[in-house]
This record gives sequence, C-alpha cells and structure tokens, in this order.
Amino acid sequence: MTGVELKLMIEMHIGFDDTDSPKRGCTTYIAALLVEKLSSMGASFADYPNLVRLNPNVPWKTRGNGALCLRIRCRDNLVDKIMETVIDAVEENAELGYEGTDPGIVFLFNNVPQEIVGFAKRTVQGVVEMKEALRLIKTFRAEAVGFKKGRGIIGGLAAIGENLNKDHTYEIIAYRTPEKRGTPRKIQASSVKEMNEKTSSVTFNNVDPETGRVLITPRGPDPILYGIRGENPEVVKQAHEMLRREEAVERWVIFRTNHGTDAHLRKVSSIGEVQPYNPVVVQGAVAKEPQVIQGGHVIFSIRDGTGDVDCAAYEPTGNLCEISKNLIVGDLVEAFGGVRPASLRHSVTVNLEKMRILKVAPKTTFFNPTCPECGRRMKSMGTGKGFRCEKCGFRSSQLEKVAVKGKRELKRGLYVTSPRSQRHLTKPLCRYGREKAGAPKKMIKDWHFP
Ligand SMILES: [Zn+2]
Repeated sequence: MTGVELKLMIEMHIGFDDTDSPKRGCTTYIAALLVEKLSSMGASFADYPNLVRLNPNVPWKTRGNGALCLRIRCRDNLVDKIMETVIDAVEENAELGYEGTDPGIVFLFNNVPQEIVGFAKRTVQGVVEMKEALRLIKTFRAEAVGFKKGRGIIGGLAAIGENLNKDHTYEIIAYRTPEKRGTPRKIQASSVKEMNEKTSSVTFNNVDPETGRVLITPRGPDPILYGIRGENPEVVKQAHEMLRREEAVERWVIFRTNHGTDAHLRKVSSIGEVQPYNPVVVQGAVAKEPQVIQGGHVIFSIRDGTGDVDCAAYEPTGNLCEISKNLIVGDLVEAFGGVRPASLRHSVTVNLEKMRILKVAPKTTFFNPTCPECGRRMKSMGTGKGFRCEKCGFRSSQLEKVAVKGKRELKRGLYVTSPRSQRHLTKPLCRYGREKAGAPKKMIKDWHFP
C-alpha cells in the first residue's frame, strides 16, 4: 500500500445495541449480516466483531444485554455508503414493533478516546445515563442514530469504548436458515459431548456437568443455532467443525467478547458501599442463619462495621444454593453478584453468582454430661437444676453441659453457580488461571462465513 492510499483510509468503530425483543431478533445476527455486507463493499476488519455484555443488573435490560461493535478500515469515500448500509440493516432487522426495543447506532472515527473507554467500563459495571452518552458523542464528533427512544445509543457507545484489551474470550455463533427458526434445533447431543471432552481445557460451558444438558444451543425462536465459547478463535472454530448438524448453517462468525470474565463485578471495600443495580464483590461475616424460602431459595445476611446486606442463592444456582445452607453465623464470606434494590418484601439483596468462603467459624454443640457411675448420657432436670441418670438414678447439681466442637461440612474455597444458571459475564471456575492480559496481535484468516 502506498502512502497516498494510506491517507485515504479511515478507521471506523460502529457500535449498536437494543435491537432485539425478549422473544425475537438478535443483535449478533445483524452484526453477522453486516460482516458479510461490509466485507463485500471493500471494508477490512481491524478486529473480530466485539460482543460486549453490559451490566446484567440494570432494570431495563433487553434479553442478553449484549451490545456490538464492528471495527473496520475503509477508504474515506466509502464512509457514507457504509453508514447507510448499517442503518438499513438495523432498521430492517430490529424488533421495532416491540415496546421497549429502542435501537441505537454510534459511528466513531479513528482512535477511541479514554473518556469513552471509561464510559464503557461504567456501563458494564453500573448504570449510566443517556445524556452522558450524548455529551461524549458530541465532544468526540461521533455520529449517533436512534430509533424510537434510542436507548441503544448507550450500549452502542459502550461497545465502542470496551476495547477488550484485558481478559476476553471468543464465541463462534452459527445461525439458522430463516425457514428453520422457531423449530427444534437439530444438533446431535453426542457430538456436543465429544467436542466438549476434546476441547474443554480451552472452551467453556458447552455442557452442564450436573445435568448433562447441552448449553450451546439457545431455546428461543431466535436465529442462533448454537454458540461455542472458548479461549481463542482457532479452538472455537475447531469445536464448531466437530459438531454433527442435521440442519444447514446459514452463516457463522467468530466474536471477541467479555463472556466469562466477571467484567461486571466491582470489588467494594465495605458493605456500606453496596449500591442497587451495581454488581459487587463484597466481604462480610454471616450475621443471620440461612433460611430456605419458598421455591428452595436460600437467604442469609452478612455484616461488617458499616452495615449489613442480604444475600440470596436461588434454587437454580444448584451447588451454590446447597453450600449456602451450610453457613452459620460467624462464617466469613465474599459475595459476588448483582444487587437488587429493597422492596416491600425484602431488603437490598446480593443475588449470588458466586461465593468465596474465607473463614469457617467453629461450631460448638453442647451435650448433657455422661453419668460418672454408669456412663449413660444423663437427662437435664431443668435449667440450673442439674442432671439425673435414668439408668442408675445418679443425680448431680455440679455437673455441667459439655461443649463439643462440631465438624463443619463447609470447606473454604470458591463456589460458582452451575454453568446452566451462569450469566454470560460470570467467570466459570474452569476459566480461573486462563485470564488474558492483552488484545490479540492478529486475526485468523477465516473467521466468518460467508
Ligand atoms: Zn448412671
């Protein structure tokens, strides 16, 4: 490429969000369509399409709360045509008829400013406002297009700012042909299990280990046939090639994502800092014994010098729910999860995604003494009235209850919800130690079809 041509090249970041409804549509599918369209127009991709999951704890989230960013290079005379193509694709494919679907698109040119990187982080971990997004768009001369209320502009800008330069993962998503959508997905479960056995050191959440359920296929009528998550683009592509499909794949794309990275969780230094809608990691000592409520959910509370907060392990979280039942007052834990605001029925609650048991309190049980004459366990004659032996009749007002340190079932360590109930962002146990420190240097050759 000569210097003259280089000057005409523009770097463009295209972010969009909120195009789907709870039942239909899929923002990743619009991205997949655009990968094909923009490539054929002569744009080159500077990165895999970025699939950025935003704070799953905001009250107005769409289905997976995933926003998309395409990062391309193109000749400057193509910019207008590309913007038009993107706007058309969103307009044609978004679920505009659904109330609450408010798509937005943001176009940013050249480098991504630090302010937008910071905005992205706050959109993943907390709650941001539209006016802040609009101010940044104006300051940095980005362009935004909103449909209806245009709330998707927030996610679109956040997807641009989230450079995934720290820990990240990949997902290959295969899409169904239009006539198959809404019908049961035809993938041989045995091939998913074989793929999982061969690749599980570098993929994650293919199969739920407790139930054996296949997790790569969604269940709704959306266009996704399956998505396979893993540590690098090569492995998710190999895993996809191992599957035996009984229906055609219309297209597939490899996305770079923040799935399985815990990017939404922010560590706070005290319980007083826990805020509704801001997912946290917070330490405290168990202050109230766990209670099993209707539906099998477990609620307990933790406390430190600044206050207390309820923690809830929901029944579908499986092992996490079981572990929570074994907590006693005094156990020191670290709670990870989204924060629900207080309501009439409950106070501010951390919905547990995972929990670290830091210290297990000793459990002391008191027993009646054994009879000094015959060895039988004695009966109490009432508080402060001493004990008597039912076998030999020996009585004593001197003997006292015996304290015995009970064994605790609970072990220190990290406990994570079962893969079947993990959020997109939850880092599964198997990913601990696989975290990445930087963005990839270059892309693999074939990362999408067609
Ligand atoms: Zn006795």
